[in-house]
Amino acid sequence: DRMNIAIDGPAGAGKSTVARKVAEQLGYVYIDTGAMYRAVTLCAQRAGVSAEQPDKLDQLARSLQIEIEPGEHGQSVFINGEEVTSLIRSREVTLQVSHFAANETVREVLGTMQRQLAARKGVVMDGRDIGSHVLPDAELKIFLTASVKERAMRRFREIADSQIITLEQLETEIAERDRLDEQRDISPLVCASDAVVLDSTGMTIDEVIQAIVKLSRT
Ligand code: C5P
Repeated sequence: DRMNIAIDGPAGAGKSTVARKVAEQLGYVYIDTGAMYRAVTLCAQRAGVSAEQPDKLDQLARSLQIEIEPGEHGQSVFINGEEVTSLIRSREVTLQVSHFAANETVREVLGTMQRQLAARKGVVMDGRDIGSHVLPDAELKIFLTASVKERAMRRFREIADSQIITLEQLETEIAERDRLDEQRDISPLVCASDAVVLDSTGMTIDEVIQAIVKLSRT
């Protein structure tokens, strides 16, 4: 029987790579919910709306048309028909996204979309509050973590070619994003009580993927 798998955890723990490959192996659909928060953030930045303007942000969140298109190499994201898949990965978005993600309307709108996407089962959804809030009935919940040093190091290897940033700076930014995500009032980043905790420090991506696939079959 098809099931839903929730993969939550702090920034840079490898959730998206792992979730995408697990979905591939099981023939499921991978859904990256962080991309949806990033899309709202990009839109708000373009419209000159800040996270401290809840009324404007409410209106923006409700009027936005976000589309997610699962593809072979991950997921494409569109806002009002425009593809923004790579634009939402910018540093500007990354630095701001947690502030916008703390808005109640934003979370409500995106949470509703996420539940609809998972309604027919067979999704691997990665995020911060999927097991604890969006899909509390998910058949398998993983909390994927790693030390902040390790997460910064991995991210550094990924982006060092294209962006000028030090490892230390990255570590600070990751820790700050975790702090904001953990401390917000509405559906914060938290390990669901019935989640399996996987600490990937010192594990390869493949080992993590195989561990989750195995759990899905037990
Ligand atoms: O997963 P990613 O790093 O792309 O997520 C970007 C941000 O989106 C997170 O730091 C968090 O603020 C927000 N987010 C969230 N809830 C989710 C997924 C992401 O608040 N389910």
